[in-house]
Amino acid sequence: MSMTIAFVSRIGDDEQNKWLRALQAALPDQRIVTIDQMSNDERHRAEVAIVANPDPADLSRLPNLKWVQSLWAGVERMISELPDTTFSIVRMTDPQLAATMAEAVLAWTLYLHRDMPRYREQQSQKLWLQHDVPLPGERTIGLLGLGHLGQCAAAKLVAQDFRVCGWRRSACQVDGVETFSGDAGLDKMLAQTDILVCLLPLTDQTRGLLNAKRLAILPQGAALINFARGPIVDDSALIESLDRGHLRHAVLDVFDSEPLPTDNPYWSHPKVTVLPHISAPTNRTTASIIAADNIETFFQSGNIPTGVDRETGY
Ligand code: NAP
Repeated sequence: MSMTIAFVSRIGDDEQNKWLRALQAALPDQRIVTIDQMSNDERHRAEVAIVANPDPADLSRLPNLKWVQSLWAGVERMISELPDTTFSIVRMTDPQLAATMAEAVLAWTLYLHRDMPRYREQQSQKLWLQHDVPLPGERTIGLLGLGHLGQCAAAKLVAQDFRVCGWRRSACQVDGVETFSGDAGLDKMLAQTDILVCLLPLTDQTRGLLNAKRLAILPQGAALINFARGPIVDDSALIESLDRGHLRHAVLDVFDSEPLPTDNPYWSHPKVTVLPHISAPTNRTTASIIAADNIETFFQSGNIPTGVDRETGY
């Protein structure tokens, strides 16, 4: 039997229409519509919805929801806006997204490993100056977070012969990666990290994690890549560390406020590369197929994919 499934989002009309088309193509036997296109009866019967930054008021119009499939991998905004809901929040875990993020981690790690910001600066001064090129095995890349994205990035870095360390909550091992956990483990990893890559979810525990004290533990000349969420990094502490020459460069894709306001000091800081939240965009086609598989499985068996743990916040 064909079901009517709501797509609930606060994205613009053009973007929403592209998603509706991709989702409909992936779920040809169901009817994917906006919440306003549903009858009262359809809204009452809905047990699942597909969401992208949904307005909580819209979701409250679906009183019998059992779960929602998010199209985004990061769901911290939904968790904070929907603290008391009974339905489960399932975030997007797409191998293609992990591969795209791993590609970005490798690209920007190589940018820092091969000293590109320094040679760009030298070119602006017409300076012909050669510096030592360390072997990848002499560089330690520290990954904060070894989940879906972190593990995929770790595998790419290991394949390039970098020395790779990773920090996570649990003590599970990952091939080729030295793992650390807990506060003491974090300090230990930071002390030996040349390029720190942040792939953590934003939670109460990770907000402000990279503060002045932790940035100071990184060795002199270390660099930072933040591809996770802006509020994990203390912005003033980072700028202070770059200005006094402790950290040599930061590649930032995510910020407290996005788009990054034009008066933000990061825009013109010579030791900062600003990216417009582009390290791993969700691919409409592959994400729609993942969402469709999860929903078809639910319709056939009643199984709901594992949702976000409200205790840990991810
Ligand atoms: P995930 O699979 O849930 O992995 C999260 C990792 O962080 C896990 O290894 C987890 O440890 C670790 N972690 C969480 N809280 C921790 C804590 N307090 N201390 C130590 N480790 C902690 O998430 P993911 O799919 O890899 O995604 C990570 C984040 O990337 C998302 O939340 C999102 O914000 C961001 N993201 C950014 C973009 C972009 O374009 N910039 C795109 C997609 C996603 P355990 O393994 O022990 O559980």
